[in-house]
Amino acid sequence: MKQEFNYCNCCGSPMEVRDVHGNPRPVCTSCGWVVYLDPKVVVGMLLDLNGGLVMVKRATNPGKGLWSFPAGFVDRGEIAEDAAARETWEETGLVSQAKSLAGVYSRTGDPLVLIVYDGEVTGGEMKVGGPEVEEVGSFPQHELPPLAFDRDAPIIEAWFNRRG
Ligand SMILES: [Zn+2]
Repeated sequence: MKQEFNYCNCCGSPMEVRDVHGNPRPVCTSCGWVVYLDPKVVVGMLLDLNGGLVMVKRATNPGKGLWSFPAGFVDRGEIAEDAAARETWEETGLVSQAKSLAGVYSRTGDPLVLIVYDGEVTGGEMKVGGPEVEEVGSFPQHELPPLAFDRDAPIIEAWFNRRG
């Protein structure tokens, strides 16, 4: 996830972080070439299964051993809704479809932009997916497991509230 910019792509001189247009950015100490870092787009899927929210226990950091909803990075050129369904399938074995936008979440200084969808399970069978996941489950609102990310708590609470 961490990107290193030690040497200039143009002239090979060392880079250093300087304030450019109000943000810290890697700048070439020789020719002045600037790296403008893009945000990373993450999609997540909120799914009901047996009356609870589908969640995964993370096998990797950040948040190793803690729980979140299925989520992952959007590939360049990939439709965001499809990425959410792909990540869900990879992590949980469930086939799903994004139905509506739950919200878009970003924070000052955070490289991640999180897009979350309300989805629907259309097939598959819940099982532990790839190496990024230790366990999968479906949890009612008052039996939620410990959350990996504090940003998730209001997103999950709003999802249960929407469902009444
Ligand atoms: Zn340079």
